[in-house]
Amino acid sequence: MPIRILSSEVASQIAAGEVVERPASVVKELVENALDAGANSVSIKIEEAGRLLIEVADDGSGIPSDELALAVSRHATSKLASAKELFSISTLGFRGEALASIGSVSRMTITSRAAETEVGARIRVEGGSEGKVEQVGVPVGTVVQVENLFYNVPARLKFLKSDTTERRAIDTFVTRYALAYPNVRFKLAEGKKVTLQTSGDGDRRAILATLYGVDTAKQMLEVIAEDEGLKLSGFISPISVTRSNRREMTFFINGRWVQDIPLNAALTQAYHTMLMVGRYPLATLFLEVDPGAVDVNVHPAKAEVRFREQNLVFSFVQRAVRRALLAHTPVPSVPPTTLWGNRPTSTGPKESGLDWTMAQDAKQDNTTEVGTRSEREAEQPEFGHMPLLRLIGQIGATYLVAEGPDGLYLVDQHAAHERVLFEKLMLQYDKRDIPSQALLEPMSVTLPPAQTTLLEENLELLNRFGFQVESFGPNTFQVRAMPTLFTGSDAASALRALVEDFEEDEAPLQEELEARIAARVCKRMAVKGGQSLSNDEQRALITDLENCDSPRTCPHGRPTMIHLSVDMLERQFGRKGSR
Ligand code: ADP
Ligand code: MG
Repeated sequence: MPIRILSSEVASQIAAGEVVERPASVVKELVENALDAGANSVSIKIEEAGRLLIEVADDGSGIPSDELALAVSRHATSKLASAKELFSISTLGFRGEALASIGSVSRMTITSRAAETEVGARIRVEGGSEGKVEQVGVPVGTVVQVENLFYNVPARLKFLKSDTTERRAIDTFVTRYALAYPNVRFKLAEGKKVTLQTSGDGDRRAILATLYGVDTAKQMLEVIAEDEGLKLSGFISPISVTRSNRREMTFFINGRWVQDIPLNAALTQAYHTMLMVGRYPLATLFLEVDPGAVDVNVHPAKAEVRFREQNLVFSFVQRAVRRALLAHTPVPSVPPTTLWGNRPTSTGPKESGLDWTMAQDAKQDNTTEVGTRSEREAEQPEFGHMPLLRLIGQIGATYLVAEGPDGLYLVDQHAAHERVLFEKLMLQYDKRDIPSQALLEPMSVTLPPAQTTLLEENLELLNRFGFQVESFGPNTFQVRAMPTLFTGSDAASALRALVEDFEEDEAPLQEELEARIAARVCKRMAVKGGQSLSNDEQRALITDLENCDSPRTCPHGRPTMIHLSVDMLERQFGRKGSR
């Protein structure tokens, strides 16, 4: 086929693909236009998840009748006059492409009246071809109706997700913008149902409740920080409220919602060591920077930005969040050297007639251990240490039974061992000193091709964990050594566990990856439920667990132990309480 210039119709559909991906992108562009027009009220109506209709009405400055035709042409904007201004943009739009793009893939009607004019005007665009501008009597402001989105690009229609998913994308977007602009009244109606309505009175916490629910919203911590021309405000979750993915981490930069990976990393790092492996905070943060210090023109849908001084911004955000987090996180009132670290001093240990003092002395001898612990405890107060336990025995070859200062403890031996191995391994890893032991006989492992690639990519990291694994022919690896911590375990099984983990991951950050690898190997290497342990092994496990920083959960966040307090036992046996 000879080279030729695409027809303007095809060219604009291609261009539209970048801006208009789904109904939510139309909502985004129209709401941004309304906010740029200084609206105090933005009302959004959708039918059939936006496929049939998206309507955005505002009371902003409006579009003059004689500019209406221009507004829908490509590269037509009132927000930018010269290339120089690209580096000092204070509006959400500037590319002059949204209305043209939307008009080329739908049936769009714009009705608008500019402030200080007598009448308004209307224009209709169908699949990119413009109709005539007619005069109409309407109030000041703009209404954009987008009907039959993608009616002329069936391929796009096919890529839309279920109505529920598309509706959720719209909800999410509108709620977040409502939060970012608390002084603007937002209303979102889906069919006859109003799903969001804000008062525009500036109260962000009220809007937060619609996003996260009242309970979570109440717990969210406020962040306010200012330094070197940077300003951060918004909300973050306390360490007790987490999610299993990063979807609830939202950043606005100068009023624009962006998906900026480095900022997400700054946020997660602020929570470092405070959250379980694979758990993420919730956050809605508003960053304000000098428009000249950030390039907003790096993404067609303006969803990414580039900072001139990325590191400065990164560390500012991290510090601000960390400070807010520590300021709001109660540090335990009991000195960590106290034996019953997680109980209030006033109650004190109960006299149980057992020889607890001996255990206490043994503990206090170990001063360095206690010292490092107390420091760490300040960082992760939510997990709390466990009391010293007196081992009673094992039941079902799965649980250890022990007596504590206040009742009975059931310990899940697998979860407990996972925790113990994990902390030991991570400690060695942090010191870059993982003792490794050569296998008597190197072991070969053959993997499916997809897993081979994954393992090859992560081989270096794996070997930093005390493994010695090498490529050994097609799809085959040879394990020559493994961490001493796991001596006697099945190396091949560890390797397979790791590859499975790589498969599941959506490109985690480096340090998450490390913790996940460690957690995964430890899971595979830990004693299983159903494995009987000798008395010595049981005792060693309990002692090791006592020495952990976060003994109460396994690295995946499941509990290692269940506590039946004396009080509870007494109630259950009818010795105490209501009768
Ligand atoms: P951009 O927002 O990048 O300038 P758009 O295609 O979204 O490009 O809009 C083109 C122009 O139409 C805008 O620059 C603005 O002047 C005008 N416009 C669009 N929507 C509105 C609105 N709701 N109120 C007032 N003016 C609007
Ligand atoms: Mg725009």
